[in-house]
Amino acid sequence: MTLRLYNTLTRRIEPFAPLTPGRVSLYTCGPTIYNYAHIGNFRTFLFEDLLRRWLEASGFEVFHIMNLTDVDDRTIAAAAGRGASLRAHVDPFARAFEEDRDWVRVVPPHAQPRATDFIPAMIRLIQVLLDKGVAYRGEDGSVYFAIARFPAYGRLSQLDRRELKAGAGERVSADEYAKEDARDFVLWKAARPEDEAVGAAWDAPFGRGRPGWHIECSAMALELIGRHWGIDVLDIHAGGVDLIFPHHEDEIAQSCAYTGREEFARYWVHGEFLRIDGTKMSKRYGNILTVRDLREQGVEPGAVRLLLFGTHYRQLLEWNDDALAAAREGSARIGAFRDRLEKSLAGDDDPAAAAAAERFRSEFTEALDDDLNAPRGLAALFDLVREGNRLLDGGTRVGPAFAAAWAFADRVLAVAPSARTLTVPAGALPVEREDGIPVRPPEAAPAELADQETWALHWAAVRAAEKRDRNFAEADRIRDVLRRAGWEVRDRRDGSIEVVRVSGSVVAH
Ligand SMILES: [Zn+2]
Repeated sequence: MTLRLYNTLTRRIEPFAPLTPGRVSLYTCGPTIYNYAHIGNFRTFLFEDLLRRWLEASGFEVFHIMNLTDVDDRTIAAAAGRGASLRAHVDPFARAFEEDRDWVRVVPPHAQPRATDFIPAMIRLIQVLLDKGVAYRGEDGSVYFAIARFPAYGRLSQLDRRELKAGAGERVSADEYAKEDARDFVLWKAARPEDEAVGAAWDAPFGRGRPGWHIECSAMALELIGRHWGIDVLDIHAGGVDLIFPHHEDEIAQSCAYTGREEFARYWVHGEFLRIDGTKMSKRYGNILTVRDLREQGVEPGAVRLLLFGTHYRQLLEWNDDALAAAREGSARIGAFRDRLEKSLAGDDDPAAAAAAERFRSEFTEALDDDLNAPRGLAALFDLVREGNRLLDGGTRVGPAFAAAWAFADRVLAVAPSARTLTVPAGALPVEREDGIPVRPPEAAPAELADQETWALHWAAVRAAEKRDRNFAEADRIRDVLRRAGWEVRDRRDGSIEVVRVSGSVVAH
């Protein structure tokens, strides 16, 4: 085991060794459920998913915590804006997040704490910080962390010490703020009428109020690793680069001041941003892309994963139509090979097949061990697919060793389509006519999958003919007939037609 990870704390790639051999505690900051998570958020969740999967594939027992932030400045503002209670506003977004997460095949965490379920743990933590004199109650009734009392403050984000001195004694009460605002930050915000109105206020010995965003992660992480393994230091803490300051810096200050430990997490791992068509994704540019948008566009989750893993997690990722088209192509190619492999497995591997499998395993392992180099891992997978096709073309026997190599890659990357995609070139769907009307298959889909494929292709041909005859309403009706049976028909720009099985997937994941 020689996994190496880039640690933001030291700005170096370091060999990974957990505190207890064989066991890894992993905390990843989850979504703020005031709205749908976008593809930029999911880039982070997917790199964390890759980390989790790779740790497990490498033999570690992982305890993974990912929180849901259901109380902070943004959730309260969003609930108040709609005149809803906090809970009523965030609950549907919590469910939507889980749906999106499952769709894009992110393995669910072992614990998914919601901040509002851990208020007592937060209050306990803040009380200890008050008792230790590293926190104080401001004249506004809120409780603040005194960064001057924590000498290691700024270590993670490498804040300049002089900058810090300039800000000492001043306070910031917003959940999010810039590096230039490095000053005492809020642990507990005194209740305002707006908070009371949405049900976001709790009693505490130091006054009625609600937690600051940063304390939430510290309290939930410490509480859960304490319960699970009786520990108070995390092995790995991960998130997007935008969380380094202030969120993670503040998490470290609170947690270490509380536990008295030198570290809150031993490895801090951060993923880079994503840009769409060369622009930062933001409400202002109206280019927010969500996972549900992609799902509605009929994009395969495997293709989304392939696109996101095609750029190393520490590099800026460019999302555009070309990249998506290439990823869909690549994922389909991998899926086609999987289908071929399933049908071709017979007896033992020919030595050539066993050697190809062995070569793949070592290349793939080397790539992922090298700071999760997924682009190189993908290249190894495409080599395996190419080699597998070549061997099968030549009649070489491909057996369990080769299949195991394929399954290993699939378990870690999960970039194959969940669907069966039949691509029909332009004009290649002849259709019989009676009295000028295209002959139709039955409306009900056959039970057997192979028959269903023929049936779906037949309907796709009828639909194409109806479109040529300009019967667009009938073409739309046929699309619905197929959809009800779990098939999606898509007209591609080059004139070809894709008929995709989108539900009741043939190969289980
Ligand atoms: Zn967090």
